Amino acid sequence: MKIRFWGVRGSIPAPGPETNRYGGNTSCVSVTTAAGGLIIIDMGTGLMHLGNSLMAGAFGKGAGRASILLSHTHWDHIQGLGFFAPVFISGNQFTVWGPGPYGSAGMLEEILEGQMDPNFSPLQSLKNFSAGFDVRAVEPGTAFEAEGLRVTAREHPHGATTALAFRIEENGRSFVYASDVGQAVPDAPPPADAIAFYRDADVLLHDTTYRPADQETRRNRGFSTYEDAATVAAAAKVKRLVTFHYDQDYTDDDVDQLVASCRATLDACGGADIELVPAREGDELEI
Ligand SMILES: [Zn+2]
Repeated sequence: MKIRFWGVRGSIPAPGPETNRYGGNTSCVSVTTAAGGLIIIDMGTGLMHLGNSLMAGAFGKGAGRASILLSHTHWDHIQGLGFFAPVFISGNQFTVWGPGPYGSAGMLEEILEGQMDPNFSPLQSLKNFSAGFDVRAVEPGTAFEAEGLRVTAREHPHGATTALAFRIEENGRSFVYASDVGQAVPDAPPPADAIAFYRDADVLLHDTTYRPADQETRRNRGFSTYEDAATVAAAAKVKRLVTFHYDQDYTDDDVDQLVASCRATLDACGGADIELVPAREGDELEI
């Protein structure tokens, strides 16, 4: 599968000269399967750029289909939806898999409908999409299929709420997407079920929003440090760790330092053989 980064920033878009190298768009990652299927993970502002690139192919002709995996519905994971050009082309088909409150796909659809309210958006309603837009609730722990690949989900704490991590498998290769990862107990070792969920992944993309000193004063926001990510990656013996969801106030130079510190932490905690890949807008990984 090919994994491409369209938005790697956390919480709010942060465009500008100081974030050009890593990019200022919020969370969006695409996975292209060996058979050419498209899985999109999260719908932050990076989704707009993915959508524009898709218009040159089948999606521009109303013959595209994709599965969208949604970790949670905070703004930085849904704001690209109203600007995703392929949803305005009749014939395209999208299946959205996300966290349904109480397992209810209807309630998840209502939340997504809420951001189209005329007070927030000229689109007024999801019903104004021309493409098919089918919303389904994920049941954590129960596998489902997206574009022919097996996907499992794990629910983790995220501040006052929770978010889903996804594990996608193809021909013995595995990609885990774990963004917006808070801790139930501050500074506790990584939970055993998180280690099991990430175990031996070819790629673990993990929330590295903060340096430890910044997490200290913002515990309630429910994000990880590079130390949290490195520790769980080493415990799970993953092959590659991708840093992701950088704090909106961090410049490119700050992120360079965060990545270097993450490398040092991996080396010190038993993860010296883990390859560290900083997520940057436009970069692609193949596994
Ligand atoms: Zn986020």
